Amino acid sequence: MSEGAVKKEVKPRKFQAIRGTRDLLPPETALWNRVEQNAHEVFGTFGFGEIRLPIFEPTQLFARAVGGETDIVSKEMYTMPDPETDHIYGLQRSLAEWDLEVGNFENADSFQGLAVSLLVFIVRAQEEKVVGFDFEEVGFEAVSEMTLAVAELRGLISKHSQSGDASTWNLVAEQVQRIKLANDRLTVGEDISLRPEATASVCRAYIENGMQQLPQPVKLYYMGPMFRRERPQKGRYRQFYQIGAEVLGGSDAPAIDAEVIEMVMTFFDRLELQGVQLGINSIGDRNCRPKYVELLRAELLKVKDKLGADSQRRIETNPLRVLDSKLESEQGIIDTLPHIADHLCEECAAHYAAVKHQLEMRGVIYRENWRLVRGLDYYMRTTFEITAQGLGSQNAVCGGGRYDGLVELLGGPPTKGIGFAIGEDRLILSLQESGKAPAQQGRNVYIAWMGERAHATAIRAAKDLRKAGFSVELPPVEQKFGKALGQADKLGAKYALILGDNEVSEGLWTLKTLADGSQVKFAEPDLLEHLRKQRALSS
Ligand code: ATP
Ligand code: MG
Repeated sequence: MSEGAVKKEVKPRKFQAIRGTRDLLPPETALWNRVEQNAHEVFGTFGFGEIRLPIFEPTQLFARAVGGETDIVSKEMYTMPDPETDHIYGLQRSLAEWDLEVGNFENADSFQGLAVSLLVFIVRAQEEKVVGFDFEEVGFEAVSEMTLAVAELRGLISKHSQSGDASTWNLVAEQVQRIKLANDRLTVGEDISLRPEATASVCRAYIENGMQQLPQPVKLYYMGPMFRRERPQKGRYRQFYQIGAEVLGGSDAPAIDAEVIEMVMTFFDRLELQGVQLGINSIGDRNCRPKYVELLRAELLKVKDKLGADSQRRIETNPLRVLDSKLESEQGIIDTLPHIADHLCEECAAHYAAVKHQLEMRGVIYRENWRLVRGLDYYMRTTFEITAQGLGSQNAVCGGGRYDGLVELLGGPPTKGIGFAIGEDRLILSLQESGKAPAQQGRNVYIAWMGERAHATAIRAAKDLRKAGFSVELPPVEQKFGKALGQADKLGAKYALILGDNEVSEGLWTLKTLADGSQVKFAEPDLLEHLRKQRALSS
């Protein structure tokens, strides 16, 4: 092989971020930090505490909370087997695929050995309390059935392996079949999924940490990445970021709904987010929603032929979601459908009216949107969505609502809940589009030094300036002053501190303001004082 060919072969692969994920880089990350800092501050003033949650959870948590019929759970989750139980899956698969060689007692014995290993793993996983692993879920009956069959099989083999005839072999085959059937009934281990949203996790954490013992309601907020396998486009990613909050406790007072909404609006206001519009709706509860859904389904069936494939399917699976449709051709039809507001039970209607009144008391401007239903199964009564400008068709920056049954559905005590999730990526996009992103922050001071003595002084100066909170660039190698000043300019530095042999021996340092080129000499302590004053003036 020629040298060229070898070189070609070892040319390293260029890696790229996975589709739908992206790097957030400076200076944009400064905006992300500002947004998050404001969230900490605003939510803190409303008495919310931060909760930090795992990024993956048992798949079942999302399946149960978000709902198996939702897009999120049915097709958007990143799911993988839990490595802790993966070897158990392996053994299960081997048992299921085992081809019994007729008359081969040794082969049957190996099969028996595999089944024993599987049982040992299951018992051990149970003892070690591997997450989500308990006999009840695994199928206790199947475990004991397999244990019995294995014992019988072993007995048969040790008794007859020398003198096996056709009739004993039939008995062996029978036990092998019993083990295989028990194996089919076992549901071992658990899949885990990257979280597609965080409300389910917050509820899990509320239950797991006994937060119902705390003064109620418990008010929590979170921020971090979520994962959904969607078609990436502007404002829609596979790893995206949410900032969300939840209120959990015994009360569903309408003032709680209104205060949660007021909090998001305050946050957006603080960020000067442009074109903010709040839409609200009530989607009823267990009492009244099913009747409305039936009515809706009946009406939709009448016009089924005029609907697109997605909506046609949703007539069966989730008719409410048809109202969510953005398809141009369906808008006219949807306009004629019955409104849920006219079908709320008395309690839900009263709750909805009170939420609106509470919003008005807080000066929160809203628009009622009868078509606002949320994509997640757990919502009831109050739902809301906030849109902002500059986002095209992905213009929802926040979605939220009430979910009173959720904690109980996840095995906790009866608990009321309401919350929201802000799409941080879209929030940032909107701020950028409307010019509300802060200008890039350059360095405060670039230290242009020349000479060994000056280097030592420059290191000391950098230390002191940084301690005082200035952003300092200290070049690692000596540069001619002209080059250093050019570099300072490129980095957007406000000042260049010039330190050469003269400056160091005189004890007078030259500070150059890059914008106008003016230069002033300062003694070391005066320089710090001067910069402090300038900073105070400009802030
Ligand atoms: P959409 O209708 O835009 O798909 P959704 O109903 O799926 O939103 P929620 O699950 O309520 O959204 O999440 C709340 C917010 O999170 C949304 O309003 C949006 O701002 C943001 N969001 C949801 N999915 C994504 C995504 N794939 N990429 C970026 N942001 C997202
Ligand atoms: Mg979505």
